[in-house]
Amino acid sequence: MPYHEFECSKCIPERKKHAVIKGPGEDLTSALPLGYLNTIPGTISERGCAYCGAKHVIGSPMKDVIHLSHGPIGCTYDTWQTKRYISDNDNFQLKYTFASDMKEKHIVFGAEKLLKSNILEAFKAFPKIKRMTIYQTCASALIGDDLNAIAQEVMEELPEVDIFVCNSPGFAGPSQSGGHHKINIAWINQKVGTFEPKITSDYVINYVGEYNIQGDQEVMTDFFKRMGVQVLSTFTGNGSYDDLRGMHRAHLNVLECARSAEYICNELRVRYGIPRLDIDGFGFEPLGNSLRKIALFFGIEERAQAIIDEETARWKPELDWYKARLTGKKVCLWPGGSKLWHWAHVIHEEMGLDVVSVYTKFGHQGDMEKGISRCEEGALAIDDPNELEGLEAMETLKPDIILTGKRPGEVAKKIRVPYLNAHAYHNGPWKGWEGWVRFARDIYNAIYSPIHQLALLDISKDEIPGDKGFATARMLSDADLPEDVRNATDMRPYSGQFDSLAKLRGKTYPAFERQTAVAE
Ligand code: SF4
Repeated sequence: MPYHEFECSKCIPERKKHAVIKGPGEDLTSALPLGYLNTIPGTISERGCAYCGAKHVIGSPMKDVIHLSHGPIGCTYDTWQTKRYISDNDNFQLKYTFASDMKEKHIVFGAEKLLKSNILEAFKAFPKIKRMTIYQTCASALIGDDLNAIAQEVMEELPEVDIFVCNSPGFAGPSQSGGHHKINIAWINQKVGTFEPKITSDYVINYVGEYNIQGDQEVMTDFFKRMGVQVLSTFTGNGSYDDLRGMHRAHLNVLECARSAEYICNELRVRYGIPRLDIDGFGFEPLGNSLRKIALFFGIEERAQAIIDEETARWKPELDWYKARLTGKKVCLWPGGSKLWHWAHVIHEEMGLDVVSVYTKFGHQGDMEKGISRCEEGALAIDDPNELEGLEAMETLKPDIILTGKRPGEVAKKIRVPYLNAHAYHNGPWKGWEGWVRFARDIYNAIYSPIHQLALLDISKDEIPGDKGFATARMLSDADLPEDVRNATDMRPYSGQFDSLAKLRGKTYPAFERQTAVAE
C-alpha cells in the first residue's frame, strides 16, 4: 500500500505519510496513514478543537440541560445547532446557546464572578430546567478560572440544580477527538452512580455513542423497545441528564460510535462490570446482525428475528430500486470519524456505490485500518486532508458524489461535485431499515437532481444546450437502465412519510412478562 503524495503538498513533506492508496491484496501491514497527530504547521486542517469535540459532539445532544460555554462568544457560536441532533422535548438544546461572553477585561482580571452570575441568570431565565453542563474554553483555561469551584458554589446555593463541568479547552488534544475522550471520563467520574434509575425490564442497556441525528436514536430505540429491552440511557442523543447519571445499572452497553464513546464503555466495564457490545445501525445486514447480537446476549433471539423479517420485507424492494440506479457510481466517503468504517463496505454491497476514497479528520489509525479493510482496491485513504488536497483528490478521482461535512462539502459544490452532509444528514434519519432507504434516496437525489445537472454546466466555457427540455431525475437515472429493470414491479422508490419520526413518538409497546423479581 504505497503512500500517496499530493502535488499540492510537496512543500509539506510531513504530509506524505498521511495518505495511502489501497493496493491489490492489501493486508494492511505495509502502511497505514498516520493519524490523530498534531496538525502540521503550513497545512490548513478542517478539524474541530477539543472543546468542540466535548461540547458540540458529545455534551450538547443531552436534551434537558442548559449547555453553557465559559469563554468568548465565538467558541459557543461555532458549536451551536448545525448538527441537527433533535430531541423529543421540543428541541430545547438546539434552540438556545449559552456563553459567559468573556472579554479582554476578564482575561486580565478573571471571569469567575462573571461565570457565576451567568449560571444564575440562565437558571432564572429557564426555571423549568434544573440541569446544566459548563464547558471550559481556551481562554478560561489559560487564565485558570476554577469552573468546578463555581459549580459547587451554585449547587450549594440552589440545592435543586445539578451541574456538570467539562474541562476540555480547545488545545486539549490534536482534534475534537481529544474532547470526546475528556468528556467521557469527566462524566463517569462526576456523575455516573449519583442517581438510581427505575428498572422496568429484565434486559437493560445503555445505548452509547448515538447522537440522534435527525432521529436516529428514536428509530433504534423503537427496535429495542419492540424487543422488550429497556434503554436506560442514551449517551447522549435525546438523552436525559439524570438517566445518564444512572448508567451504572445497565446490564449491557450497546456501543454505536466507538470513536467518540468507547472510553465510557470501557470505564463502565472496569468500574461496574458492564460488558460492551459494538453494533451498527446503518445498513440492512449490519443492523440485522446488531439486533441479533443484542438478542443473543439476552436470550431473546426470536424477538429480533421477527423485527428483521418484518422490516426487510417492507423496505428491501425500495433499497433495491435505488441500488439498480446507483450501482457503479463513485463516492468519496469523507465523514469525520467512525462513519468511514460504518459505511465503507455496506454502501457498496447494499447500494452498489464504489468507494474511491475514504478520509478521516479526527479518526485514529484504528478507524483508518477498519475503513481501508472494508473499501475497494485502489481507494485513496487520507488522514486530516487540507482543502487543497481534497480538491486535488476530487479532480483526480472524479466522484459522482461526496459524503462529508459542511466545510469540505461547500468546497465540493464549488467544483460542481454533489455533496451530502454526512454529519447532519439531509433528509434523515438514516439509521434503521427505512432510514437506510432514505439515505439511498438522498444519494439518488443528489446525483440525479436536474439542479445538479444544470450546475455541472460551466457557463464560462461550456456550450449551453438550448434544444433540450427539462429532464427529471427519473429520466436521468433510467436513461441507460435495461428495460426489465426500468419496469420491474418488485422494486419501487421510497414510499415512506416525509416525517418518518411522527409515527414513533407516542407509540405504545407490548408489555413483556418479566422473568426475574426485582426490588424496585
Ligand atoms: S480552539 Fe479554543 S478559542 Fe477556538 S473555538 Fe476552540 S475553545 Fe474556542
